[in-house]
Amino acid sequence: MKVAVFFERDGVLIHPVSEGAAVRTPHRLEEFRVREDIVEALGQLRAAGFRLFATTNQPGVTSGAPTRRELDLMHTVLCRKLSLEAVLVCPHPADDACTCRKPLPGLLREAAHQYKLDLEHSFVVSDRWEDAELADAVGATSVLIRSKTNGSGHHDYIVPDFSAAVAKVMEVARDLGTLRVLSEQKP
Ligand SMILES: [Zn+2]
Repeated sequence: MKVAVFFERDGVLIHPVSEGAAVRTPHRLEEFRVREDIVEALGQLRAAGFRLFATTNQPGVTSGAPTRRELDLMHTVLCRKLSLEAVLVCPHPADDACTCRKPLPGLLREAAHQYKLDLEHSFVVSDRWEDAELADAVGATSVLIRSKTNGSGHHDYIVPDFSAAVAKVMEVARDLGTLRVLSEQKP
């Protein structure tokens, strides 16, 4: 069995870019700041046998903010710093009828196929309602970090911060017997 934790990228794994009172997604590698304070917590999940992924909607790629090349550079940095398997991207504009723009679950279904993941034993960690919705659609467990973008829809758990989210994933996976299965699979 292969199980994953899917993390929303912006605001969870990286710092958003402040522009006045608002925040936006980074457009250039110089603006791309990975959260260093989460490295240890992610290592705990990896040591338990989880595969780690980031997910992100990047509709700006269509208009070059960021360019595909710049986005790929950012994601090379992200995967290296946080030891992720991959960054799963929906590059389509909001009015495109694609099936991978979150909250639709296309990114997770595709990853499940490509990496042979068991989604029902996998987790989604985010601060946004879209991710709780897509977790629900594929039978994964959602852990929301409390924020203004949590929404009022379904979620499985809500926690105050990133380290509490990781602790919740470990606790639920232990209760479901997932941690035991993963540890037995280790060479
Ligand atoms: Zn898409």
